Amino acid sequence: MNLVFLGPPGAGKGTMAGRLADDLGIPHISTGDMFRAAMANETELGLKAKAIMAAGDLVPDELTIAMVKERLSEADAQKGYILDGFPRTIPQAEALDGFATIEKAVRFDVERDILIKRLSGRRVHKPSGRIYHVEFSPPKVEGKDDETGEELIQREDDKEDSIRNRLKVYDDQTAPLIDYYEGKGNLVTIDAAPAPDEVFGELKRVLA
Ligand code: AMP
Repeated sequence: MNLVFLGPPGAGKGTMAGRLADDLGIPHISTGDMFRAAMANETELGLKAKAIMAAGDLVPDELTIAMVKERLSEADAQKGYILDGFPRTIPQAEALDGFATIEKAVRFDVERDILIKRLSGRRVHKPSGRIYHVEFSPPKVEGKDDETGEELIQREDDKEDSIRNRLKVYDDQTAPLIDYYEGKGNLVTIDAAPAPDEVFGELKRVLA
């Protein structure tokens, strides 16, 4: 099954994509994670993406499309995949249709004030990618990773100015994809406001 997860930052796409990928045995392909890995490895792509990402803007379509096209040609993606954070613009969606067949686009629907709360409270243990939330899923010791005791950080783009910009970029450039997939007849919408277990249950129901 080839799936696209659509929705604003903070909607929980990454968390649900990780769980569903484990469940179905298919890869979770997050363009945000791929760019963060490129940044950490200081590749040419990573260096290009760094300032753009910190501001919450979008990496240019041609770079993003080329990266995804290559990723989808890898062996593990031949039985299906979950795309999380791609496509994010109409040109990306059109390009994707040229090299992939998407069976369903799942839209994660959440109110704006919940998104802002989720994003601004998010903390990350960078070496492992473990995610916490100061209020909804706090670490045992404030500011420290449960397993290693190492420092948690706040993603540069989870700071207030950047969050505001990411939500605007979503409204301007990504929200039109809802109509795009609706027009193709393969959009399903789930309420992503409840706690993770409940959202996961709904996700499995709409895909069954
Ligand atoms: P995410 O982890 O999905 O919130 O993505 C973090 C950042 O990576 C975004 O704010 C963009 O700067 C960049 N990014 C991720 N996916 C894309 C995409 N499909 N197109 C352009 N930029 C992207």
